[in-house]
Amino acid sequence: MEKVDVLVVGAGPSGSSCAAVIAESGFNVVLIEKKSSVGEPVQCAEYIPKLFLRELDIKRDFISNEVFSMKTFIEFNETIETKSPGYLIDRMSFDRALCLNAIRKGAKMIIGAKAEGIEDGCVLVRMKKGENRFLARIIVGADGPLSTIGKCIGSRNRSFVNSCQVELLKKGDSNSTKVYFFDGCPGGYGWIFPKAETFNVGVGVGVKFKKNPQKVLDYFLDKLRLVKKDVIRLTKGLIPSGGILDTVVKDNIVLIGDAAGLTHSITGAGIPQAVTSGKMAGKVIVKSLKSNDNGILEDYDRGILELWGDYIGTALRKRKYVETNWSKGNLENIIRNTWVAFKEYYQRVN
Ligand SMILES: Cc1cc2nc3c(=O)[nH]c(=O)nc-3n(C[C@H](O)[C@H](O)[C@H](O)COP(=O)(O)OP(=O)(O)OC[C@H]3O[C@@H](n4cnc5c(N)ncnc54)[C@H](O)[C@@H]3O)c2cc1C
Repeated sequence: MEKVDVLVVGAGPSGSSCAAVIAESGFNVVLIEKKSSVGEPVQCAEYIPKLFLRELDIKRDFISNEVFSMKTFIEFNETIETKSPGYLIDRMSFDRALCLNAIRKGAKMIIGAKAEGIEDGCVLVRMKKGENRFLARIIVGADGPLSTIGKCIGSRNRSFVNSCQVELLKKGDSNSTKVYFFDGCPGGYGWIFPKAETFNVGVGVGVKFKKNPQKVLDYFLDKLRLVKKDVIRLTKGLIPSGGILDTVVKDNIVLIGDAAGLTHSITGAGIPQAVTSGKMAGKVIVKSLKSNDNGILEDYDRGILELWGDYIGTALRKRKYVETNWSKGNLENIIRNTWVAFKEYYQRVN
């Protein structure tokens, strides 16, 4: 059994950001990652908003392309172009840069280490060779949409968008992201996001609608006359869409990023919330360790509700509207009411 101040489970953007803050304060923090390589395989469309760069204290060499606007299409007709300054990133380099930053600040990293549960206060971790037990003063669940740590405290995401994406050689417009709403992609959308030399072309479908995202993607590629043989990468993944979980702190356990349900229920974006929640949790954990008082961890819960309660709450209400009305009504009307490019998004729906 290994005793540590903090065990962070999952080396995605949230876990690495959290571990960096704790390590910087001199506490003993171990970051474990079940995969054998941080940042791979990439499960992301790789867009971040420009303003989010301010949050990052790592080198910027993960940036692949700058974009300035977002074009929204309904049934393949361009409907609106909105300002949306941002970057397409190389997500693998991004995750690795955040992880290296944590290690540089003193976090101990273990790859190929999968948390399997919590028993008598210890986290059971399956390693390449055998099993280890970590007795941590504080445990951080940064283990993504299907969090094992969340499951241990009965708090795990239950609603998802299921996505599938290919990366292809780029043709045409590099300055805008493109988002497509069409009847065959219920409760979600298709996207084309331009990187330096390639496009990420993908779809996300509300799980509730029981459609195979791979088939929806094939249809989408056909409609766009994109040939699937040029594919250099295929990505799949679940995006939590049910909003912030009711319990993100319990006793000495804290959930961050996707494990806490912080993705935007309409756009699916979660990288900024992952990094920011990781840092916020890190700061609160340091305070709690210094004063030996787990009660202080509730500050994190309050902090995320203050920061994102309205932002994600609005998105969740819009998602419920989309899911209830998709098969009933006029697609254009539904999208105008629920997509962030339209002013109606910012008005309440009943
Ligand atoms: C197809 C797709 C496209 C997306 N596009 C965008 C986008 O363009 N922009 C955006 O902002 N967001 C996007 N998102 C969402 C974004 O990827 C997530 O919000 C973000 O990755 C959350 O970071 P995280 O650190 O919380 O979780 P993750 O990135 O999921 O990291 C969790 C880590 O924990 C590890 N792990 C899991 N279980 C265990 C365990 N038991 N033990 C040890 N390790 C474990 C995983 O291997 C993983 O490395 C997209 C998501 C998908 C699926």
